[in-house]
Amino acid sequence: MIERWREREVFAESVRRRSGAPAWGFYEGPPTANGPPGSHHVLARVFKDIFPRYKTMCGFYVERKGGWDCHGLPVELAVEAELGFTSKDDIERYGIAEFNDRCREKVLSHVEDWNRLTERIGFWIDLKNAYRTLDPDYIESVWWALKTIHDKGLLYEKLKVVPYCPRCGTALSSHELGQPDVYRDVLDPSVYVRFPVTEPHGAAEPGDQLLVWTTTPWTLVSNAAVAVDPELTYVRAQLEGEPPMILAQGLVERVLGPGAKILNRFPGAQLERVGYEPPFGFIAKSEYGERGHTVLLADFVSDEDGTGLVHTAIAFGEDDFRLGEQYGLNVVNPVKPDGTFDERIGAYAGRWVKDADPDLIEDLRARGRLLRAETLEHAYPHCWRCVTPLLYYAKPSWYIGTSQLKDRLLAANETITWHPERVKHGRFGKWLEGNVDWALSRERYWGTPLPVWRCPAGHIRAIGSFAELHERSGIALTDPHRPFVDVITFPCADCGEPMRRVEEVIDVWFDSGSMPFAQFHAPHRNVEHFEQRFPADFICEALDQTRGWFYSLLAVATLLFDRSSYRNVVCLGLILDEQGRKMSKSLGNMVEPWEVIDRFGADAFRWYLFTSKYPWDEYRFSLETIGEAVRLFLLQLWNTYGFYVLYANANEITDRSADAADATELDAWARSRLNATIELVRERMDEFDATAAGRAIQALVDDLSNWYIRRSRRRFWDGDEAAFATLRHCLITVAQLLAPFCPFLADEIYDNLDGSEPSVHLCAYPIPGQRDLELERNMDVARQAVRLGLAARGQAKVKVRQPLRAAVIVATGPERVAIERLADIVREELNVHELRFVSQADELAEIELKPNYDTLGPRFRQQMPLVAAAIAALEPAHVATALLEGRIIAIAIAGHDHELTADDLVVAMKPLPGFQVEREGSHAVALELEIDDELRIEGWARDIVRAVQNARAGAGLDVSDRILLTLDGDPALLDAARAHERYIAGETLALQVSYESVDGGEPTCVDGRELRVAVAVA
Ligand SMILES: [Zn+2]
Ligand SMILES: [Zn+2]
Repeated sequence: MIERWREREVFAESVRRRSGAPAWGFYEGPPTANGPPGSHHVLARVFKDIFPRYKTMCGFYVERKGGWDCHGLPVELAVEAELGFTSKDDIERYGIAEFNDRCREKVLSHVEDWNRLTERIGFWIDLKNAYRTLDPDYIESVWWALKTIHDKGLLYEKLKVVPYCPRCGTALSSHELGQPDVYRDVLDPSVYVRFPVTEPHGAAEPGDQLLVWTTTPWTLVSNAAVAVDPELTYVRAQLEGEPPMILAQGLVERVLGPGAKILNRFPGAQLERVGYEPPFGFIAKSEYGERGHTVLLADFVSDEDGTGLVHTAIAFGEDDFRLGEQYGLNVVNPVKPDGTFDERIGAYAGRWVKDADPDLIEDLRARGRLLRAETLEHAYPHCWRCVTPLLYYAKPSWYIGTSQLKDRLLAANETITWHPERVKHGRFGKWLEGNVDWALSRERYWGTPLPVWRCPAGHIRAIGSFAELHERSGIALTDPHRPFVDVITFPCADCGEPMRRVEEVIDVWFDSGSMPFAQFHAPHRNVEHFEQRFPADFICEALDQTRGWFYSLLAVATLLFDRSSYRNVVCLGLILDEQGRKMSKSLGNMVEPWEVIDRFGADAFRWYLFTSKYPWDEYRFSLETIGEAVRLFLLQLWNTYGFYVLYANANEITDRSADAADATELDAWARSRLNATIELVRERMDEFDATAAGRAIQALVDDLSNWYIRRSRRRFWDGDEAAFATLRHCLITVAQLLAPFCPFLADEIYDNLDGSEPSVHLCAYPIPGQRDLELERNMDVARQAVRLGLAARGQAKVKVRQPLRAAVIVATGPERVAIERLADIVREELNVHELRFVSQADELAEIELKPNYDTLGPRFRQQMPLVAAAIAALEPAHVATALLEGRIIAIAIAGHDHELTADDLVVAMKPLPGFQVEREGSHAVALELEIDDELRIEGWARDIVRAVQNARAGAGLDVSDRILLTLDGDPALLDAARAHERYIAGETLALQVSYESVDGGEPTCVDGRELRVAVAVA
């Protein structure tokens, strides 16, 4: 099929045919191709496929340009691992140009795997013209965006405390902190440290100690100050034989235990300016400035944990940093970018800070400065790529002032339709509400270089195009990556000194967020092309992209164009294993996409992903669950199609027109049912609900198979043109409906049954025709009567082949009219001679009322016998009706009224003698069970037919072969056969029935009597 599509250029043709039609925009969120694609990629790719296919068939022009995300740390890490590097120094020694060459190779190393899988799962996307974020054109568009943002005054550099990965040597943005697996539970030290007061002030007296708590002992080396809340109540508290300690009143018992003596109480404001001796002497008070190593007043202190006195290390906490700014303290940072202490920290110099914790604690203990050391389990952020614990670390970084645009971001979000809707004001809306400025810069190598140049005097110039850079510097760039761009300098327009590029590259999320224009190299070229496709009508990615691509796409568009770049977004859930665990190599529970495709085919994989559940819920995924999807739908469809082909060939039906007049009500029903399905599928697909749409197609195929064909079998045997036309029309339409879901199977069926277009994918999506609502309703009622009747047979253990005298149906008014109109069908299905009607269930059976001990037992306990008696005294028919109407039943027990609901009562039907009843809501059907001789003989005749059919199949006869039939065996059976000879001959295509001895073959048994059957082709 893939071959045929290629040959006939079906994808290109499907787009070409719509040129000039209204455009419907789709943006491909670019994956990275530095590893092979997994099953979750198949999930995203089939959902990115189905709606564009659907919209194309509906008449829209849907361009689908592929894309690859090429830059960023993941690629660098993979190359570092290959080269055995552990730090940025290794990279610089190796050479940035060489390193970036390796990254360039690495990032597209699996593109072929991706392309192969993409084609095999039927994801139609233009991979030949895919955009790549590493291409100079793409980068130039990103530069334009950054310059525009700079010109709006929203791009700035600032010293801030940021989450920082010392291994990767770069800061992370807040949306990277929102990636899954960033927060991991770890054990950290929890230490209470004494800070002896050296300059008493206010409430503090000589000899007192400030009691301070921290979970990062390594930051104590950089202690700059202690913060207290001015209004919180503090105390001087004393343990036996110890100096007085100062801490928050509310924490005394928790920290010091019940034995501490409170000396006095005072508000925190009275501690301001108290001087103390810092826990370590590596950095002098003077380096921090006048307020170094004193108590400061702050607004972020609480008495919920710790001691109420907060250790402040300005370079290592956001609150600390803010407080330092407020009090004019200098930032002193003795931790190097690789996460080790610098030479100022004596014996600890060169050590990874977190590894130094135990020795630092011992040091405090040895000097009598430690009150207590414990451990604490808490969630701590880690680098989402290399799993190194992050440090909060003060460093200069470039930011985009997105927080100034928060209202615009929220307004843009209002224009987006989210699927599921809850994301809009939940996960995504809340994320926008808490917006902080976008930490844009990364001190790395393989990325879009930040196009900002600076002179020694600090003048700044942002460059928006290569031409502009050429003009200023006289140098034409061929590769805008580092290190080539780094050497380009030009004179400052303000002071004439040379301007050099700042070293940073940018967050890769900005690259992918720029794809709406950068994929077309807009605005440098193709402006109109971009504008016609902006914003997109549809994007689709995993739910975790709320803080990734969904955000960056919205943020970039809001910064540049003050609107969202997408109108509809479908969010996809995780793919878990059957036990609900994440799939991972280490658990060995990965299901590789090729495993699924090789075993079940791409259509089955797609069908499972579309219809097994709503895509934003989690998938509990295994090969077995996909097998189930195949069994329940694809096989049924294939068998229905196979049935048509088999009998059409047998009857030499060649007519391909589908508009023969409906010969029967069943034909009319099938077409009406088909039109109902088209309506529903279109409505759901327009709402991006492939799940309900797919299930509607499944229900239709089930109805065709288990009702239309089942009820029309005889007509297919007889070559009834109208039946073939109806079924063919339904199957061709199902193929068209199904084309976006299961493109391979749909095309196979279409091509064989119709083929007037080179592919089903070039057809228009079906448009609903006239429905006969009354007929649909009537058929529903009739089918329900059949279902209940068959259930009653099952209960009575009377096989369907055994005819019964009558079915008695509870039905009045329109329902009765409906069943009467379709009485032949109901009679045949139930295999009864006649239908009778009654208007109320109690004419069929005696209603019995019993207490439900499961609900009432626990409620009434020893009063249960009284309850049972009260229920026995109720009027059963009356109660049954009341419960059906949703009313509540009151009983009185020992003078108290109690209410009973439908859950508390079991309503059973005790059939009248000789009947079996089945009931559902207000509907019921009873079968008369008595089997007289006439019925018995009729039943035998049917059993004989079945035995002959088995013999035909056993002899390998074709469905249309006419036969000569010979019967032998129990005389009573042969009498029955004679009595029903015409019926038997008709059912088995026998031209002649003879009653002679049959030799050989296994005899069959009918109702305990022996029967021998011989068949021969006539
Ligand atoms: Zn890292
Ligand atoms: Zn200058």
